[in-house]
Amino acid sequence: MGESQLSPLLPTFARIDLSFERGEGPWLITPQGDRYLDFAAGIAVNSLGHSHPHLVEALKAQGEKLWHISNLYHIPEGEKLAKRLTDNTFADTVFFTNSGAEAMECAIKMARKYHSANGHPERYRIITFEGAFHGRTLATIAAGGQAKYLEGFGPKVEGFDQVPFGDHKAIEAAIGPETAAILVEPVQGEGGVRPVPPQCLRGLREMCDKHGLLLIFDEVQAGVGRTGKFFAHQKAGVAPDIMAVAKGIGGGFPLGACLATTEAGKGMTAGVHGTTYGGNPLAMAVGNAVLDVVLAPGFLEHVEKMSLLLKQSLASVADRHPAIIESVRGEGLLIGLKAKINNGELVTALRDQHLLSVGAGDNVVRLLPPLIIDESHVASAIERLEKACVALEQQAAHKAKTASKDQ
Ligand SMILES: *Cc1c(COP(=O)(O)O)cnc(C)c1O
Repeated sequence: MGESQLSPLLPTFARIDLSFERGEGPWLITPQGDRYLDFAAGIAVNSLGHSHPHLVEALKAQGEKLWHISNLYHIPEGEKLAKRLTDNTFADTVFFTNSGAEAMECAIKMARKYHSANGHPERYRIITFEGAFHGRTLATIAAGGQAKYLEGFGPKVEGFDQVPFGDHKAIEAAIGPETAAILVEPVQGEGGVRPVPPQCLRGLREMCDKHGLLLIFDEVQAGVGRTGKFFAHQKAGVAPDIMAVAKGIGGGFPLGACLATTEAGKGMTAGVHGTTYGGNPLAMAVGNAVLDVVLAPGFLEHVEKMSLLLKQSLASVADRHPAIIESVRGEGLLIGLKAKINNGELVTALRDQHLLSVGAGDNVVRLLPPLIIDESHVASAIERLEKACVALEQQAAHKAKTASKDQ
């Protein structure tokens, strides 16, 4: 009694009072016609911006033919997408899902099944890193290990051992007879845009080889061109055994994938894992259309070029406003501004200038523009950031003045 009723939408998100009616490339447009420059891209999902004509066409064409048929039958569009993913990566095989967390679930189950199929069912534990984010299912919150996501949901799923970020001694110490795999994001996204140095990734590969462990990369956020390579780990020249992908691969259509080598996937025989929607014809048509663009000659070079321009311009804004921005970091167009003020205040000030960004751990503001931005969008974003910094400095000066008057 007296408690107000829950809203029709379960209030698990603290939503900003803003909605959009349509999008054009990197722009989002409200019902009133206000334009926002979208450097959040649906949290690294709208890799090709909004309403990309090639994706719209692919979705429409497939929509008129066949939406869903289940995995009881062959899906040629899926076979094609899997072949293109394996042709362009370390992997030999792909399982399609609808989300990042499901791709991670498949990766976790696969790593455990691999050892079980090898006669070692006791090897099921997975080493993960502090600050990691792997999704919101019961197993992936255990893998991420963040107290705020685990609290109140009963016993944590067993079998995840967390070590400090990049601490190789701690990893060595955590490896035991029950260890199955090491799981890492080559660039931590939610954790605050923290790239794992290439020598660390190589070190993890060596450790896995030495101890017979599988190396799992979570590239749900960093993959599919976001860092200027097709996948972030390709920069370091290190290949995993299993990799989770989602976000950018669907360009806004829910699509995820778990990629693996023949060896790592050998326990995953008919009937051991499944999905109703995963890999359905609509998702496969859009995934193929995304790859048409991302794998076209020159596209990843374009991402690198925009990244350099954006990072250099951001660094000069940071130099001019050291009380607001401490540093600029990240790879490709997965960029973090480590804030000197509260990161949420910076996100709000940017939104006031009609530039959308996303907060992250470690007091970071993420800039995740669509990969199709050009020089004009970079210039526009920098202008808006500059204005936001000036506005924040004026607010701070005003506050200081009134505070000193009050004394
Ligand atoms: C977003 C994200 C996930 C979870 O993806 P969902 O589609 O939200 O389930 C997993 N890992 C990483 C690195 C992510 O950024």
